[in-house]
Amino acid sequence: MSSHDIYDLVIIGGGPGGLTAGIYAMRAALKTALIEMGVPGGQMNNSDSVENWPGDEHIGGSELGMKFHQHAQSYGLEIISQEVAELEPGLEVHTVKLAGGDQLSAHAIILATGGSPRKLDIPGEEEHYGKGVSYCAVCDGFFFRDKTVVVVGGGDTAAEESLYLAKLAKQVYLVHRRDALRAGALLQQRVKAECKIEILWNSVVTEIKANDSGVYAVDLQNTQTAEKKELAADGVFIYIGFEPNNKLVPAGTKMNADGLVVTDEKCETNAPGIYVIGDLREKAYRQIVISASDGATAALAAAHYVETRKSAEACELPEALQTEAS
Ligand code: NAP
Repeated sequence: MSSHDIYDLVIIGGGPGGLTAGIYAMRAALKTALIEMGVPGGQMNNSDSVENWPGDEHIGGSELGMKFHQHAQSYGLEIISQEVAELEPGLEVHTVKLAGGDQLSAHAIILATGGSPRKLDIPGEEEHYGKGVSYCAVCDGFFFRDKTVVVVGGGDTAAEESLYLAKLAKQVYLVHRRDALRAGALLQQRVKAECKIEILWNSVVTEIKANDSGVYAVDLQNTQTAEKKELAADGVFIYIGFEPNNKLVPAGTKMNADGLVVTDEKCETNAPGIYVIGDLREKAYRQIVISASDGATAALAAAHYVETRKSAEACELPEALQTEAS
């Protein structure tokens, strides 16, 4: 393989972290490819409104994703729409094997594969997915206009999506297992002030029931009293956090008990030249701006890493000259 076939950097994942890394890598003149199997923007595409991206008081999640994408493309970033099957670390270069059979080699890799919605793992959830069970209000909320929906969870996402659904549905029940929401203070205030949202505290959904027309009810259980009841609902939206998409993380990479990758402050893993950013990386907070910051950090670190490797290689004497010199 000639050095022309080797990328300086391959970024896997096109969410806010991956696309920011792409922008920074192109500005650092790295030969870079970004591989994304879905729509660029990642989880941002599931968000109706983003209100904490500096510089934009309100912006639609998919619109923000599109802006990141266009910005990266304006620098000529090569974007490959494929699934990655495997990442094989190497001493000289790392190999990215695509599901279609092709493979790419790169000096540095940034893994930005984020996470996927965590499942409740209750009866009816998997069977009725797409028939009343959803993990994306922006995608499916429209089908519940003037209907009754249940939202499960107590974090920022459950709060944001309840507010979104309240614009469409007749009634939103926010079912939370504790007596206090985890969501930020401002979101909590808005949820509590929205008359279409009723919070069912200390409650869990134990079963989702459906007939031929779709979901018609959920079974609830009180976590304090163990009391059970059926609640009529046409749809169930589940927002109980994310599971990291870590299947491409090479064996031997340091991870914590939650499957999140441990990195240093430059987002570099214990495998030299392999960086992990965004929601796949162990850290305190998960925000679009923090993923973007990770992307910038990792791309700058990767640029330094690639430059150092290349100058070390350039300083090595060709084999013939080495023999003469000895
Ligand atoms: P999260 O903060 O992890 O909250 C998950 C919620 O689901 C918690 O309230 C949790 O209850 C509940 N839960 C977990 N497992 C459950 C189960 N098996 N049954 C019932 N309830 C369960 O997840 P998230 O709201 O998706 O947010 C993920 C991260 O993204 C957070 O860091 C959040 O701040 C961030 N986020 C950022 C933005 C933004 O930047 N604009 C938007 C949305 C989210 P407990 O509270 O009892 O643990």
